[in-house]
Amino acid sequence: MKKRKNDTAIYCLGGLGEVGKNSYCIEHEDTILLVDAGVKFAGDDSLPGIDYVIPDYKYLKDNNDKLKGLLITHGHEDHIGGIAFLIKTLKLDVIYAPQLAASLIRKKLAEKKITNIKIIQFDNNSIFKFDKIKVSFFKQTHSIPDAYGIVFNTPNGTIVTTGDYKFDLTPVGDMSEIQKMATIGKNGVDLLMSDSTNSEVPGFTMSEADVSESINDIFRNTQHRLIIATFASNVFRVQQIIQAAQKFHRKVIVFGRSMENIIDVARQSGIIKARDDLFVKPNIGLTLPLNQILILCTGSQGEPLAALSRIANGSHKFIKIIPNDTVVFSSSPIPGNALSINHIINKLAKAGANVITKSILNSIHTSGHASQGEQKLMLQLMTPKYFFPVHGEYRMLKAHAKTAQQVGIPSENSFILANGDVLLLRKHQVFNGDRVQSDDIYVDGNDISGLSTKVIRDRVHLANNGLVAIMVAIDAKNNKLVSRPQVISRGFVYMKENTELISDTQNLAEQTMKKILKQNPNFKIIKESLKNSIGSFLYQKTYRNPIIIPLIINKPEE
Ligand SMILES: [Zn+2]
Ligand SMILES: [Zn+2]
Repeated sequence: MKKRKNDTAIYCLGGLGEVGKNSYCIEHEDTILLVDAGVKFAGDDSLPGIDYVIPDYKYLKDNNDKLKGLLITHGHEDHIGGIAFLIKTLKLDVIYAPQLAASLIRKKLAEKKITNIKIIQFDNNSIFKFDKIKVSFFKQTHSIPDAYGIVFNTPNGTIVTTGDYKFDLTPVGDMSEIQKMATIGKNGVDLLMSDSTNSEVPGFTMSEADVSESINDIFRNTQHRLIIATFASNVFRVQQIIQAAQKFHRKVIVFGRSMENIIDVARQSGIIKARDDLFVKPNIGLTLPLNQILILCTGSQGEPLAALSRIANGSHKFIKIIPNDTVVFSSSPIPGNALSINHIINKLAKAGANVITKSILNSIHTSGHASQGEQKLMLQLMTPKYFFPVHGEYRMLKAHAKTAQQVGIPSENSFILANGDVLLLRKHQVFNGDRVQSDDIYVDGNDISGLSTKVIRDRVHLANNGLVAIMVAIDAKNNKLVSRPQVISRGFVYMKENTELISDTQNLAEQTMKKILKQNPNFKIIKESLKNSIGSFLYQKTYRNPIIIPLIINKPEE
């Protein structure tokens, strides 16, 4: 369906077909509102040398005058991690964020020396008007405090995005506003965009209150040094661990920058309440009796640079594992990380540690996201006419649509889309529209400019196939070869053991050059002929496709 002038368009630049880089857009006439600007962590070998992935912001840049603000649902990296990159790419005047997210964003931007951005804090009573769109908020329960869902009242109908949520009737932080959600639903929701992360998990997500008992048990039963690794982003978990340390008279040593940051910000905001003397520097803390030490660190997913990996490898600056240390993994493994976690567990066990991996602490049932039962509850509260599952890989989106069908949303009213696909809301009806540009932009270290898909393709290709350089010296004036071509390979074959292959390649390069030089070629033609003949020869011999780089040196004969 073609977009008409008065339609409201809804599309995602990131967050569909993936868990990460959430960036959703609501567009009406001259107004675009962006909901969240997240990153995705690359963290696997398919993207060599890459730290983050961000969305391509080109569409927003091309329509920069329409962009009226960025609304942040909560302070997790998959929702705020892309802000610095967004600000470098285009002009953004205002960010609207709840208190904790606002503190985290300020800290993040200050580190990148970005100071010229206005952050307006909102809460569940705030209402903003952006031309014809009215925006209001409702509180959610998630693994971080200050998480919100957003309601958009547009001239074409009401759109609700849940943000990340779960329903927890005995939460550690605030209760979600269930009555308010029911009222929003009663007033009529045309399109619901809902968190799909745990849509394949049946039942209800376990309450964080039940987790607290399990943490206390571990503290009660541990006689020696205790090391707990968890996500810094799970603020409620971090909070509970710190409270247990206080209760069981252990001092806390914090390792890992993201953990230090979140504890700082959460203590300043009053979310984590702890005495100053509870936290000690490693040089003092590590000299305490072993049963008075808690080490709280990052790296529960086996991230190679995080504190726990360094401790396991024996390469940590301050601490080595000693026999009878207890190491607890307090977060469920993200699929794909199982191998590296396993590797770390083995190393810790070898060094004599008692490793606790199987407890409710790392069960998927204690996640910060709604399982199927809670997803049904959300759908029943909102009773949307149309359903748009977001925040999930393709199979999660699909499972979520199936759950919606069970509570009465016909499958033709559910939209399983890809990043860039546009939905059109027109007088309370939703249609499929065209597409806006979307792509992955890869961020390598601190290089904010981003790398395109092509550079990554080259890296993967290099990693899998290696490189062969062919150097030819020619006398371009007389179209003659000056010397025998040289062949250098890296990561392709070991040259010393493949002298025959290398000299055959040299011969072929020589023949190719002699043939082509007769036709008075330009450099481009020479390069193409070398690439073609040597590429297909090496493929025949090795079944591999190395990157072939012809280097031509023009050298007149003496
Ligand atoms: Zn989250
Ligand atoms: Zn998220």
